[in-house]
Amino acid sequence: MLELERVLVVYPDYRLRATLKVPTGAHVAVVGPSGAGKSTFLAAIAGFETSEGRVLWDRQDLSGTRPGARPFSMLFQDNNLFPHLTAFENVALGISPSLRLTAAEKARVEAALARVGLTGFEARKPAQLSGGQQGRVAIARVLVQGRALILLDEPFAALGPALRAEMLELVRSTARESGATVLLVTHDLAEAARMPLMILVANGAAEPPADSAALLANPPEALKGWMG
Ligand code: ADP
Ligand code: MG
Repeated sequence: MLELERVLVVYPDYRLRATLKVPTGAHVAVVGPSGAGKSTFLAAIAGFETSEGRVLWDRQDLSGTRPGARPFSMLFQDNNLFPHLTAFENVALGISPSLRLTAAEKARVEAALARVGLTGFEARKPAQLSGGQQGRVAIARVLVQGRALILLDEPFAALGPALRAEMLELVRSTARESGATVLLVTHDLAEAARMPLMILVANGAAEPPADSAALLANPPEALKGWMG
């Protein structure tokens, strides 16, 4: 379980508070108006921003732990693939920044590429892959890291809605297999509605996860505005 206890991020013109729990294995959309603090919320969990309060994973206090030592994988808007590296190498980076892998680690990279349907594409560079295939490489890198928490900040933004939905379904199905918890920042209502739970970020606070259907059926003011 992910727990945030009186977390407070302070910027010069902005503050974000959060006290909430996310059950292990939950798939949660993080929604709210532009500039409300959705990315800041993920950054506090990831440790990219210093915050007051405590962030705990399975009762273990992560506060003061550097991002690299926290149990998450993150995907940003662009997939952060390195253009000069092959699909295999881009995935291998998830295991070792030096790209020096043991035979067992190489097998894990192969297995992750196979899981996302990219067997045979190992030697291709991103420019030689379609947008969807690039997305799959990025997902394979998340897979190979085997982390308990997957943080997605408006991922696959370069893809159209259909392909983006396909990528998110792939992330979710692999997360179901591993039991990973998924937090997805999105400004797409349809995308958010497919997640069972929602965290609303508005008015300087991230709210505890609520049932998505119930929240959309009876939306608070901040969500109404966002739903347009
Ligand atoms: P969202 O992802 O919901 O669009 P952000 O988390 O990016 O919102 O931003 C929330 C608020 O914090 C905004 O007012 C933004 O200008 C401010 N902010 C974000 N990052 C920083 C930073 N590094 N330094 C100062 N202010 C920031
Ligand atoms: Mg953002």
